[in-house]
Amino acid sequence: MVEGLVRRLLKGDAEAEKCLASYSVCIMPMANKDGVERGGTRFNLGGWDLNRKWDKPADPRFAPENAALERWLDGEIKAGRRPTLALDFHNDGSGLLHLSRPEGPEGEKHLARMRTFEKCLREHTWFVEGSTKPSFHNPGSLGEGFFTRFGIDAAILEFNCNDIAGLKEPALGKHWVTFGEELTKAFEAYFAAQ
Ligand SMILES: [Zn+2]
Repeated sequence: MVEGLVRRLLKGDAEAEKCLASYSVCIMPMANKDGVERGGTRFNLGGWDLNRKWDKPADPRFAPENAALERWLDGEIKAGRRPTLALDFHNDGSGLLHLSRPEGPEGEKHLARMRTFEKCLREHTWFVEGSTKPSFHNPGSLGEGFFTRFGIDAAILEFNCNDIAGLKEPALGKHWVTFGEELTKAFEAYFAAQ
């Protein structure tokens, strides 16, 4: 997906120029570097699930990856570069966009923006799976923690590891590349709508 996204943005054509004039992208290719290196997926070497407990500052003893990411976010915000949108992509067997529901009026506005993002995904990529049910509320997930602690709209997009519903195809690498390419257009449409 990242390969498709980066190559599309660097293609040098008019569409790429239009995207790059509208937004910039920061990419962390993998959150759980050491855990994955050792053959794991969900938990880091400290036994920590890096997509939990985002409602509080990360303990650098158990989640040094998250502590480093928080330091970077603090630095970006201090430098006047608060990210507008943060997405955590990882896979499961559902393919859903997880939209958390922070409480209060700001939470409502956040959810409305995320609904717009979902619409842009549907219009510009092969995404059809939809989002989590309206009762979903997980203060410790990255989606909600980024919003409540850093003022950044955020969501988790699961990649269905078995099946791509919008293409009626198995989850092949080439389709994720295409998704990354199309995501550049979904971003452009989303930022134009803000
Ligand atoms: Zn997940």
